[in-house]
Order: sequence, then structure tokens, then C-alpha cells
Amino acid sequence: MLLGATVVVLDDLSTGSEHNISHWLCNPKFMLIHGDTMLIDPDAVVAKHRPTHVFHLASPASPPHYQRDPVRTLMCNVQGTLNMLTLARSCSARFLLASTSEVYGDPEQHPQLESYNGSVNTFGPRACYDEGKRCAETLVYEHVRLYGMFTSTLRIFNTFGPRMQPDDGRVVSNFIVQAIRGEPLRVYGVGVQTRSFQFVHDLVDAMLIALVFREEPVDGPVNIGCPEERTIDDFASIVKGTLGRPDLGVVHEQAAIDDPQRRRPDITKARQLLGWQPKWSLDDGLAETVDYFLLRNASVKPKE
Ligand code: UDP
Repeated sequence: MLLGATVVVLDDLSTGSEHNISHWLCNPKFMLIHGDTMLIDPDAVVAKHRPTHVFHLASPASPPHYQRDPVRTLMCNVQGTLNMLTLARSCSARFLLASTSEVYGDPEQHPQLESYNGSVNTFGPRACYDEGKRCAETLVYEHVRLYGMFTSTLRIFNTFGPRMQPDDGRVVSNFIVQAIRGEPLRVYGVGVQTRSFQFVHDLVDAMLIALVFREEPVDGPVNIGCPEERTIDDFASIVKGTLGRPDLGVVHEQAAIDDPQRRRPDITKARQLLGWQPKWSLDDGLAETVDYFLLRNASVKPKE
């Protein structure tokens, strides 16, 4: 638990699971509010809990999840972010926005620096998430400018780890589930597109440094991710190796629309201003994640 603090979680559990926090539920310093950031009354939350730090991560983040109800995804990032900012402002709490590498769209600059304004298609299936997060960043910017709030905007690159849902739909959990089931790994497109994968513990460290352990806020957004880049075909081989299943095949399916072709963060700003860089290797992070899926997710096991 965070330095003895009381933690109040607000979650509609639309893409998560109460099981993931079941080990905290009987702790008197932990509380789950089953609710929606778009509908919550900020004044009521402030009156009851008076938070000192608000970590705003509420949004679906996996393409199949955020595309299921696109308008809701967009509004969750606009209205939901505005509500959480209002809440934080009214009790002078610090505020962290979980933004995303998706604000860079399908980038023309590589690796991506925070100064790059991005290349997002406003008229495509990823726009509901990308534009929602871009608008959320703007809301943060205006709250800093107008009200002098202490905020932190982290542009989070692909992140994975234990407690991902087997049906999350993103590549790490999909490949692990397929390999455990002894199925071929399904790559969208020809497999030369790249991503840079960071382990969840590194992300949590960055969030705490950025919002809790700093005297002064960092100016502007900060990339948080691992600068080691892999093609999706290479990543499929790595997952097969971790599970000891090099024999499994790979099938190439239709490419996803507007799929970013290259993604790698430049983390110079995070290194210099937060003193942060990833500590976990892809191999160690994947080993932990695979263990989790093998131990916890009976539904993932191969059918007898
Ligand atoms: N991908 C894939 N197979 C899957 C899921 C994703 O080949 O089962 C590809 C996807 O097209 C993309 C990359 O893996 O190029 C990362 O996709 P993910 O959904 O994990 O994250 P995002 O696209 O948001 O970075």
C-alpha cells in the first residue's frame, strides 16, 4: 500500500476484474467504489474522501475494447477526465493523467519525442481513443494554465504484466493464451510493425515518482516506456520461446486499420527529469506474466 495511505479505487470494472484486487478488499485502508468517472459527482467524492493524489487511468485501452463502444470511449476520456480534474482541483490534490503513445498516431517521427505532435487519423477506428486522450491532455494543460494545478501527464507505451485479462485482446495476452493452448500465434498484417514493451512494475514506479515523490511538477507530457523495439513477428518467437513451444506456427491475418507501423519512445525526458528508466527486461517480465497465466487462468489451459 502506498506509504500507509488510504486508497480509494473508482472503477466500473468494464474491462477489469474485481478478482484482481480481491487481496485488498478486506484491508481497512482500501475501498472500491463501483462507479463511472463520467457519472460520478466530484463534490460527493471530495466531501467523503478528500484525496490528496488522483491517479486517473479510467479508460478502456485495448483496441477491441475501446472500439466496442467508441463514443463512450471518447466521452470517458473527455467527460471522465474533466470530472476527475474538477474533483482534484476542488481539494487541491495532485493529478496524474495516464495518457498514451497513441497520441502520436501512426508516427512519422521515430523514435517518438514528446515534442512530436503526432499523426492521428481523426476518421478511423482508433480515433475514439487517440482523440479522446489528446483531448484529455488538453484538459490537463488548461487546468494547469488556468488554475495552477500540480499535474503529471505520462504518455504510456505498450505495457504488460500479471493480472491482464485473458480476453484483453492486446498482443501480449493474446500470444500467451494462444501458446498455452497450443494454437498458432495470430499476427495481424505481415508482422514487421514494431512495438516496445514495458513491464507493469516499471510503469508503477514512474507514476509514483512523477506524482508523489517530486517537489515540483514536470512541465508537459513525459514518455514512459521501454526503448527496446521488436517486430511483432520477433515478439511471437520470443513468446513461443518463453513457453518452450518453438514448434508452434504463426499465421498472418488481415492487418488492423490504421495500425501504427513503428513505435518506440525516446525517454530522455523521463531519464533527466524523473531519474527514471525501465529496470525490467522483456524476458523477465514475460516469464512473470506467463507464470501468472499458467497459475491463475484455468480458462486459458488447453482443452482436455
Ligand atoms: N497484434 C497481433 N495479434 C494480436 C493482437 C495484436 O498481431 O492478437 C498486433 C497489432 O496489430 C499491433 C501490435 O500487435 O501491430 C500491438 O497491438 P496491441 O493491440 O497489443 O496494442 P496497440 O496496437 O494498441 O499498440
